[in-house]
Amino acid sequence: MEANVRVLLVEDDLQLGESLETALRLEHYAVDWLRSGDAVRATLGATPYDLMVLDLGLPGVPGMQVLRQVRADKQDIPVLLLTARQTLADKVDGLDSGADDYLTKPFEIEELFARIRTLLRRKGGLRSQQLEAAGIALDPVDRVVTFAGEVLDLTAREYAILEILVRNAGRFVSRPRLEEGIYSWGEEVGSNTVEVYISRLRKRFGSSAIETMRGVGYRIPR
Ligand code: CA
Repeated sequence: MEANVRVLLVEDDLQLGESLETALRLEHYAVDWLRSGDAVRATLGATPYDLMVLDLGLPGVPGMQVLRQVRADKQDIPVLLLTARQTLADKVDGLDSGADDYLTKPFEIEELFARIRTLLRRKGGLRSQQLEAAGIALDPVDRVVTFAGEVLDLTAREYAILEILVRNAGRFVSRPRLEEGIYSWGEEVGSNTVEVYISRLRKRFGSSAIETMRGVGYRIPR
């Protein structure tokens, strides 16, 4: 099953990491945050990510070495480097090591979002194509939802659940699978959270837009 656009954030600065994690989630990305470079390879090997935001100055395995390992593993994930260094040599070194783009701290969050969208678009492929089911059209890169000729303004979690259902149109998606789409590591999930968002989506798209099968899950018809 396809999930939402998933970003791996690698940043040891707690304050910056926390604000980036929050900001990315508000932009509807599913985010996992690692505080060092040590677990990056194992994490990328275990979960498919659409993009990695990688700080260069990390404790343990330094960012540049992480990047080289990832490329040596034949992982073609787009990588956006974050660094406090600003010299041309560092930039060239980063791009030569397989980074797709480069952002020097401090940066504006809007600049980061713009770079991420560009990388996701450039990556192309199935994940960033327009999705459609039951008259609902989604652009997973720009997060634009169109229904009955109108662009709808959804909250991050409404969007996240809708995207999973549309990607799996015609199939029932279990509640745990939907919960996984709206939370990342370490967050508590309320027992009726998914129901609450399903009910909100039905208000937007009509009560028959999302079917329920008790004990199985939810489905948007094709
Ligand atoms: Ca750092």
